[in-house]
Order: sequence, then structure tokens, then C-alpha cells
Amino acid sequence: MAPLGQPLSVAVRRKTFAAVGQRDENTVLRDVRFEVEPRSFVVITGPSGCGKSTLLNIVAGLDKDFEGKIDLGPGNPRVTFVFQTPRLLPWRTVRENLELALPPGDPRLAGLPDMLERVGLTSAAGAYPEHISLGMQRRAALARGFITEPDILLMDEPFVSLDDPTALGLRELLIDLWSRRPTTVLFITHDRAEAVMLGTRILRMAPGSATIIQDEAVRLSTAERKDRDKVLAEQKRIFGST
Ligand code: ADP
Ligand code: MG
Repeated sequence: MAPLGQPLSVAVRRKTFAAVGQRDENTVLRDVRFEVEPRSFVVITGPSGCGKSTLLNIVAGLDKDFEGKIDLGPGNPRVTFVFQTPRLLPWRTVRENLELALPPGDPRLAGLPDMLERVGLTSAAGAYPEHISLGMQRRAALARGFITEPDILLMDEPFVSLDDPTALGLRELLIDLWSRRPTTVLFITHDRAEAVMLGTRILRMAPGSATIIQDEAVRLSTAERKDRDKVLAEQKRIFGST
């Protein structure tokens, strides 16, 4: 197996969209360049519409219409994407949705009961997605992301539209899953507190900036990430306010 976590190199010179009803095109990304260390948890944050999803889709290879180069590192790294909506197959149970992330007979399937237990879905394993809560669907999507043991894990606002306690529970779950298997993560959120709680490093974008305006290491231990006051203080240090 490839070593855990891959380095990642992003260089997007320019990304434009044709502007509807306008003559000029809309430059969404310009000179976005950064390197990601293996096993780091990098959060890209900025307000809605600043180009975060566009950037992640380019890194994932889902959007090839841009000027620049993405280097996912040596070998043939396994890249897994966790989307904003859980995207579970409605006609498959929770367990089947996880199984389908892997080829039949794959040795990683042996870890399935343990993964279901860790995300608290053992008793819901036989349920269909429409019969469980959105929070549980999101937990299933996280479990599906980790069961594949990816070298690079890309996540686009996987915890939006959840109430605060549910979102907090999912962040803590993600910290636990990642601490047990620290792969390379690129995580997107518009939520600054979420960025600070999860990230080992934060890349910040601003409205209309089209590029990264701040690159900051997060100074929190794993334990401190679950301490609300510590997270708030670090948020203040990085963003200047909360
Ligand atoms: P974010 O994820 O930060 O909220 P997006 O990357 O989704 O932002 O969008 C950035 C900008 O690009 C927005 O102005 C959006 O309207 C525009 N945009 C995104 N996707 C498309 C598209 N398929 N066609 C045209 N414009 C788009
Ligand atoms: Mg987005």
C-alpha cells in the first residue's frame, strides 16, 4: 500500500466562467498556488461565492476547464470526495452504501462493522437513507469516505444545514477518525469556528479575492480542539474577530 497521506500541489493560474448576460467572463480563481504536506488537514475558508467549491472540483479532477496544474503526488493516490449533500443511494441500506464504496471481496470490507460502530450507526446499518436523520446520513457519508482509506480526502462543506449540537458531534467524530488515520485532507467551509476546530492549517479566501489572502498554521492540540474557549481564542488570533 502507498504510504499514508500524499503530498499535493495546486497551481491554478486562472479559472473563468462565462458570465450570463455579460460580455466579460467571470474570473473566479487567479494565481491560487499552495502545497499540502502529507497527513495535514488543510481547511479552505471564505464566504459563500468566493470560489471554494470551484477550487475543490478542480483539485478533484471533476473540472478540467482551467489554466494551471494539479499534482496529486507520486504513485496512483486514492482520492475520495465527500460532498455537501450526503449522496447516499436511496435504494440501498446504510451498510450497502458503505460496501459499495469498495470492490467486492476487498480486504478493507473487514473493517466495516468497526467503522459502523465508530460512527454510531450499528443499529441503523439495515435502514434506508430516507428513514434516518440528516445527521445520520452525514455520518454514513463520512464513514463511506474513511472506509476506502483514501490517500487524499476532499470535503466540501459536509456539515452544512445541521443544528449546532449535531454539527459539533460530527466535527468531533471527524477529528477522531482523522487522528486514528491521519490522511491528507482538503476541507472546505464558510464557517470560521469549524475551520479552526478542524484544520491544522487554514487557507483563507475573501469575496472577490479570487486567490488565497492568508495562509496560517492552527496552534491547537487535538484535545484543545474540543475546548470551545481555546477554539474561539485561536479564531480571534487568525481572523482578527469571531
Ligand atoms: P463557494 O463554494 O465559495 O460558495 P463557488 O465556487 O461555488 O463558491 O462559486 C464561485 C463563483 O463562481 C460564484 O460567483 C458562482 O456564481 C460562480 N460559478 C460557480 N459555478 C458556476 C458555473 N457552473 N457557471 C457559472 N458560474 C459559476
Ligand atoms: Mg461551495
